[in-house]
Amino acid sequence: MDADGARQDSSAPDAPQASPADGDRGASAPNGSAPATPGRRGTAPSAWLSTVEGTALPVPPRASRRRRLRWWAPRLGAALVPLLLVVVLYVLAVWPQSQAYGRIVTHGPAGSDRKLLALTFDDGPNDPATSALLDVLKEKNVHVTFFVVGENVRAFPDTLRREAAEGHAIGNHSYRHKKRDTLLEFNYGELEETQQAVQEVLGYRPALYRSPNGFHTPWQLRAVRRAGLTTVHWNVQTLDWERPDPDTIVRRVLDHVSPGAIVLLHDGDDTHHGSDRTPTVAAVAKLIDELRARGYELVTVPEMLHIPATLPASQRTAAHASPP
Ligand SMILES: [Zn+2]
Repeated sequence: MDADGARQDSSAPDAPQASPADGDRGASAPNGSAPATPGRRGTAPSAWLSTVEGTALPVPPRASRRRRLRWWAPRLGAALVPLLLVVVLYVLAVWPQSQAYGRIVTHGPAGSDRKLLALTFDDGPNDPATSALLDVLKEKNVHVTFFVVGENVRAFPDTLRREAAEGHAIGNHSYRHKKRDTLLEFNYGELEETQQAVQEVLGYRPALYRSPNGFHTPWQLRAVRRAGLTTVHWNVQTLDWERPDPDTIVRRVLDHVSPGAIVLLHDGDDTHHGSDRTPTVAAVAKLIDELRARGYELVTVPEMLHIPATLPASQRTAAHASPP
């Protein structure tokens, strides 16, 4: 007889005592009748009664709590496991250096004789900030890598032309710079949108890709790989998008830099046109001097990794200029 079935007769005041352990097993009075516990419908009397000076009082026994725990534990576990799994999968997606969903380059070789370092700039072109930055880089004779946003390429094609003409490497940084697209576009069509935008201006397609905010998914990385591009993130973060003072940006680089470093900076801000990057531009001139004083050689990402900056000529349109 189960616990519910044990509740038959509430008029049996002389029912024998039952231990909590008995109650856990659903035991009943020997004559088949047992007193019901007030306010506890469906619960075996023997599970809820204890005797105090000969009087039966309703006291929840410890065994009943264990039984409730046994009921809840597997159900709680069944609900938490998928939740934890989603959290882990999300952390792997937002962690820019994670390799769980595919190969991502985060730094160059550290063991060579040369102390190589690559400065990279995301979210442009974005004038007047990008043009001001190009002036500094030209004056210092430094080549960097620009990861450009497709929408911004459409807005500032002449600035992109100048970047390429002055020897900088160009990478694809999505078209709309939205995590949502990374998550929901299973064929990741905006990769091609940006490739086309760059090709229309420069006549070739970039061979490098960087995901917006470093947020990446397995299907996105697969689409990038199938299109022949290499995904490149970074290992030195400056948080320059917070617009700290230039000395803070410089210090954040110098405190974490090592040979083979790929440094993340910004000449734009998502797809906002005209956003202020004055602190970054001001920091770059000082940063170049400090890095050179420490023996670093500033190169583009393709130079550092010894990989092509552009996709093979067969994928270019013939009517445009040659890549740098
Ligand atoms: Zn970005």
